[in-house]
Amino acid sequence: MSKRTPVEVGSPRPSLMWFRQDLRLADNPALADAAARGPVLLLYVLDTTDPWAPGGAGRWWLERSLVKLKGRIEALGGHLVLLRGDPMLILPALCQEHGIASVHWNRCYEPHAVARDTELKAVLAVGGVEVHSHPGNVIREPWTLKTGSGGPYKVFSPFWRALGPLGPKGAIEPAPDVLVSPEHPRGEALADWSLYRGRPDWAAGFGADWTPGEDGARAQLDRYVLGAHGGYGDQRNLPAVEGTSRLSPHLHWGEISVRTVWEAVTRAGGAHGEAYLRELGWRDFSTHLLFHWPNLPQANWRDTFDRVAWRQDQDALAAWQGGRTGYPIVDAGMRQLWQTGWMHNRVRMICASFLIKHLLQDWRAGQAWFWDTLVDADLANNSASWQWVAGSGADAAPYFRIFNPVTQGEKFDPEGAYVRRWVPELSRLEANVIHQPWTALPSALARAGVRLGTDYPLPIVDHKAARARALDAFAVLKGSSGEGVEG
Ligand SMILES: Cc1cc2nc3c(=O)[nH]c(=O)nc-3n(C[C@H](O)[C@H](O)[C@H](O)COP(=O)(O)OP(=O)(O)OC[C@H]3O[C@@H](n4cnc5c(N)ncnc54)[C@H](O)[C@@H]3O)c2cc1C
Repeated sequence: MSKRTPVEVGSPRPSLMWFRQDLRLADNPALADAAARGPVLLLYVLDTTDPWAPGGAGRWWLERSLVKLKGRIEALGGHLVLLRGDPMLILPALCQEHGIASVHWNRCYEPHAVARDTELKAVLAVGGVEVHSHPGNVIREPWTLKTGSGGPYKVFSPFWRALGPLGPKGAIEPAPDVLVSPEHPRGEALADWSLYRGRPDWAAGFGADWTPGEDGARAQLDRYVLGAHGGYGDQRNLPAVEGTSRLSPHLHWGEISVRTVWEAVTRAGGAHGEAYLRELGWRDFSTHLLFHWPNLPQANWRDTFDRVAWRQDQDALAAWQGGRTGYPIVDAGMRQLWQTGWMHNRVRMICASFLIKHLLQDWRAGQAWFWDTLVDADLANNSASWQWVAGSGADAAPYFRIFNPVTQGEKFDPEGAYVRRWVPELSRLEANVIHQPWTALPSALARAGVRLGTDYPLPIVDHKAARARALDAFAVLKGSSGEGVEG
């Protein structure tokens, strides 16, 4: 059903702006281009054909972000149309029905999006519709950076040496002052999508930690630049401290442009500016890898890892997911993830390493869990990071590096503050045993009110034995990976 505003004879044909991972009005090149041409039909499609549709936490975020986007658009006089289905069918039909002259989007780099957009471009062209796609989500697009021999990068350092000095291209564009929507379909109600089904024990607390939407992203950037940025290089590895920007979900959903973040951090300067920009560089590197190796989410980047005999242990996987492994730093991380939809980067590495190496579970099992539970779940970052920890990825950690969860905890959470926060049953233990409660004297456990095996589990694997088992399983890789490759 259409809500029609009669188009005057001789008035320009409208354009169509298709929002995807760019849920913002400021510094949105596709929107700026579309809006400059006159009336613009503003569209978001819940793509039901995407094999990597957002998981539960992602849908929680998306729902709220769309509410905010809709509100901002309406405040400028426009209207956001929401439709669910196959964009390959929806966009051509809309263009025909509403006499659309041009379609605008910011490019995405996931394999499904690349294939879909390429095909859609051709279909729309046949129908006489111009397509203008723009770079809006990365510092530099994946095909623009090449090694000396002309191929894609496989190693981060040379990639960063090429990317860092370039930085983002062009100037930041303000949000349009006004948005004029032409005749448009009524669209669907966001509530009917049931994006977040509200499992009673889950996501209830996310709202305390996060403010999805463009304003929330900007406020978070300002908070970071004025606060944690000053100590980023020193504190970014300490999970008990809010020492990082927590911008990852905002960047994933494109509620703020990476160009805006880059510019704000560069302007803030300070001793740690470069360290922060490097992390943005890792984000681009993951996108670069995904674009050039579209199998990254499902296949070992180093196929020698196909030889590893992973264990199938549902009980071990469930203990890891539920934060009940008996290793406090791992359990704290997994509980932070469950309760807030986010986990500190250092702890992500520890938890991922524990699942892959101590429990010998295929990295894809962990990747799937993170996909469902992270508010910043991002196909490029998640897949590249899991493969990095496994050792199967590009420029990855060597397969034989096995984090000791006790020493990692002691090094990065020396007072045990992070563990105390997320594993409250251990909160009264002394710092010298909090990362290995099984070594505490019975009197110390009694004083802290901890009955091991009852209030808190004993370790589900012994570190030394698990390490030996992993090295044994990885013996098939000897000489084949983990020694680094040239970029
Ligand atoms: C197993 C594992 C899975 C991960 N899955 C994701 C994911 O799905 N989505 C995601 O955005 N990040 C992922 N990361 C990377 C990293 O943990 C998060 O980006 C970071 O913790 C987000 O917090 P922040 O915004 O405070 O980061 P900051 O330290 O403030 O960094 C700024 C930004 O740089 C980017 N960034 C930082 N570290 C990395 C990195 N190692 N790789 C790529 N980009 C990075 C993020 O966009 C981040 O917002 C994963 C890491 C691991 C080890």
